[in-house]
Amino acid sequence: MRTAATLLALLLALPAAGASPAAKPASRTACDLVVVAGAALPMDAAFAVRGETAVAIRGGKILAVGDVSAIDAAYLPKERIVRAGGVLLPGFVNTHTHAAMNLLRGISNDQPLMEWLTKFIFPAEAKNVSPAFVRAGTDLACLEMIRGGTTTFADMYYYESDVAASVDKAGLRAVLGETWIDFPAPGHANLEESKNVTRAFLEKWKGHPRVTAAIAPHAPYTCSRETLQAARALADEYGAPLLTHVSETQDEQKQILEKYGKSPTAWLDEIGFLGPRLSVAHGVWLTPEDLKLLAERKVSLSHNPESNMKLGSGIAPIAAARKAGVVVGLGTDGSAGSNNDLDMLDAMDFAGKLAKVAALDPTPLTAPELLRMATIDGAKALGLDRLVGSLEPGKRADLIVVELENSHSQPVFDLPSTVVYASRAGDVSLTVVDGKILWDGKRVRTLDEAKVLAAAKEWRGKVLKSLEESGKKK
Ligand SMILES: [Zn+2]
Repeated sequence: MRTAATLLALLLALPAAGASPAAKPASRTACDLVVVAGAALPMDAAFAVRGETAVAIRGGKILAVGDVSAIDAAYLPKERIVRAGGVLLPGFVNTHTHAAMNLLRGISNDQPLMEWLTKFIFPAEAKNVSPAFVRAGTDLACLEMIRGGTTTFADMYYYESDVAASVDKAGLRAVLGETWIDFPAPGHANLEESKNVTRAFLEKWKGHPRVTAAIAPHAPYTCSRETLQAARALADEYGAPLLTHVSETQDEQKQILEKYGKSPTAWLDEIGFLGPRLSVAHGVWLTPEDLKLLAERKVSLSHNPESNMKLGSGIAPIAAARKAGVVVGLGTDGSAGSNNDLDMLDAMDFAGKLAKVAALDPTPLTAPELLRMATIDGAKALGLDRLVGSLEPGKRADLIVVELENSHSQPVFDLPSTVVYASRAGDVSLTVVDGKILWDGKRVRTLDEAKVLAAAKEWRGKVLKSLEESGKKK
């Protein structure tokens, strides 16, 4: 069927008037998609800042990144997308969230972590979290992430096989950690059930091109030595990633010190939990010795500046962690009250300003460093840097365009700083994952937006009712 849109695409695929006629269409290599943007930050090792750039994509893979004339001369795409006023980037990698908690967005605010968790989050979860809840919440989170330019995320929650189904449908890439915790939780009556559920999850999603099944013991203060060691053993058996929370609050630091006589990191090392494929979130109270240990054991760190600020947890030693050789990615954490959104442009902005105010010095964490943390270093932190995190031939085509033609971005003197400190999630006008367009600036192509929002509102009613019934009326 030849619609107006396909006619337009055909016209756009032809070389612009006045362009070099040297390349005959027949000599061009067929490809699926060419994306053209007015500028590009490919996040390669040299940190190139490019002007007008095109990317050619076939079979979900990046074939070439280059000048528009060169790409047009070499490739014949089925579809050609032009974003003349935007900057092309690899998609953002959110290294720590709890996607389904989008259904509890802002349910409890302005409280310390332990109170927030034990009085509101754990009870609300116990009464409401089911496979249906998780699917509706993850759909909502995927919608938010796709519109905001996040193409990969790391998740810690329950019923991760249902999270995976939602992610698969939405078209995103994710590392999904089934949460283990030492009290009965949704789908996890005890450690035995956690092991069985997780083994089935690992088996089911083995080999999926975009979904990596992982294991996520909650934290050293909610998981025993036995639980943590069992999680490490299962992760090693499957070569699966491990995700956890470490040194989030000063309380946790004290609790673990009293219980085990060491910092959480030193204790995790003593029981053999630290090692490759592990990413720890927060790390607010990590000591210099802890940082050394994480670097030696090749453990990555997810920095969640907004959550650490909002819960009053403290300021993570990020510049020191990077200096010690720890790979640091950025995360948003969940939306239930610790952030309350999944906006990675905000995460970069906050991470930068927090580091500067903590040091009383504006030089730590520059805009290029923050962009690295949100893209290639995040991919490294999750063990996905060979696949994604930069725009380079051979990598999977996960890319976004951030529009610059607006009153809060112009004029642009320094492109990385504009993106980090001025751009907003609403400026993202294109999101592509694995070569597939998920968001074209007008419509999310893989999700029914109205349906997802309606389901979220319906769940709000159910959650409120369940809390009223248990006498925890908000
Ligand atoms: Zn978390």
